[in-house]
Amino acid sequence: MNQNLYLQFADNFERQPDKVLIDTPNDERFRYRDVLAISRRMANVLRDTGVAPGDRVVVQVDKSPQVIMLYLACLQVGAVYLPLNTAYTGAEVDYFLGDAEPTLYVCRPADETAARELAGQRRVAALETLGAEGEGSLMQRVADAAEDDSVAVLQADDLAAILYTSGTTGRSKGAMLTHANLAANSQALARSWRFSADDHLLHALPIFHTHGLFVACNIVLTVGASMTFLPRLDPELLIDLMPMATVLMGVPTFYTRLLASPRLDRSAVANMRLFVSGSAPLLAETHQEFHARTGHAILERYGMTETNMNTSNPYDGERRPGTVGFALPGSEVRITERESGEILPPGETGAVEVRGPNVFKGYWRMPEKTAAEFREDGFFITGDLGVIDDDGYLSIVGRDKDLVISGGYNVYPKEIEQWIDELPQVLESAVIGVAHPDLGEGVTACVVLKSGQVLEESQVLSTLADKVARYKQPKRVFFIDSLPRNVMGKVQKNELRSRYAGTYQ
Ligand code: ATP
Ligand code: MG
Repeated sequence: MNQNLYLQFADNFERQPDKVLIDTPNDERFRYRDVLAISRRMANVLRDTGVAPGDRVVVQVDKSPQVIMLYLACLQVGAVYLPLNTAYTGAEVDYFLGDAEPTLYVCRPADETAARELAGQRRVAALETLGAEGEGSLMQRVADAAEDDSVAVLQADDLAAILYTSGTTGRSKGAMLTHANLAANSQALARSWRFSADDHLLHALPIFHTHGLFVACNIVLTVGASMTFLPRLDPELLIDLMPMATVLMGVPTFYTRLLASPRLDRSAVANMRLFVSGSAPLLAETHQEFHARTGHAILERYGMTETNMNTSNPYDGERRPGTVGFALPGSEVRITERESGEILPPGETGAVEVRGPNVFKGYWRMPEKTAAEFREDGFFITGDLGVIDDDGYLSIVGRDKDLVISGGYNVYPKEIEQWIDELPQVLESAVIGVAHPDLGEGVTACVVLKSGQVLEESQVLSTLADKVARYKQPKRVFFIDSLPRNVMGKVQKNELRSRYAGTYQ
């Protein structure tokens, strides 16, 4: 049987051709029949360009409905879709082109000259441009192309995509995701979150990342729902659109920004059935405030580029703030002692490991790295630290690499951050380890105050003195205007570590 993910979506195109699949605030509307026709023409263009099954197609373009058609066309012809963050610079793209060796590189019209040079150096056979309004060479070729409806026949573990990780802890790695990985995860999510063709998703995430591309779009395509594509987060526009929508997926920043609008209340969300958060930790405080204002308990889930989504708070039942819920159907999660691999009981913090049909095939061209991150029994070591409580809820307490080891003792940053965040003057904080001549690493706190508030380093230190053991107490506290975050809302602790690297020298 053909295991191409494309076939998981295909029925919806036949069943409801006149339904709008994607619309935009500029009043663009693409019906299922339009998306099918354009993506089939694109498939023709891809084949004409020499894109064969297994070939990589690198896509670094602004968000638009046409990008989804390009993604569908890649699936259709069996190419490996490889989206890149639009913020990557020429030097970064050069690395990705060298690593991925694509057949085709699709870039923004404005980047064409630089892209052509990079593509030439890296011997990429073909280059096309695609702009935010659908302008550029790709759509010109599509306009002249005939529809090609043949679907590449693939195995379950053929690659559908290579997604580079966000690069929060080091250089981005290419995660090889198979057709079966993506098919299984979107089905599990659609079921767990009760998606149906009646849903309308507000889509304001980037589509070069697993959250906006696979979690959001694959679910919509799997169940035959519809979505509004917004180029970026605009809280007022989201509130304007909520009466026409049923679901919002966002990173935690979405929810803090929405809460900053006085218009967010129960009547604004009356038509909405679900708010999902992920990609970075949602503060329990945000969850509680959102609930108080709207009556909705934000559903937090946990996943990563390599594994798609692993766990989710329940649709029915208690959505517990500060936790990421239970393993999705078909997936398993366990906590282990990182070095020995010993499985730890509930209540003990350790390495989060996952196994299931959602878990990737390995890192692109990094067999040693791949081997090092899998246990013999097939569990993937996520690099996150977590704890499962007696009721089975998983909490992520931070990343392996962010663990601070001070004087030989483990300090979990989140524990200290939570105490600091409880101070009424504090908006948020990040605790990092900074090289220290005696201790190895010195616990160091970076604190953002609420506007108009003042606080002294000594006040933070004296508060913590009563709360946590001496070895966990920060050696220094720095006040900063905001935490450095990437577009997915992830705090860039690497950046903080280099900023304060010389503190104890
Ligand atoms: P890199 O692997 O290159 O360092 P990255 O891990 O940030 O970057 P992604 O795959 O985009 O790249 O992010 C996955 C990570 O995001 C997870 O490993 C986890 O640390 C974090 N994450 C995702 N969802 C949540 C959540 N709900 N709560 C806490 N952390 C989360
Ligand atoms: Mg990672």
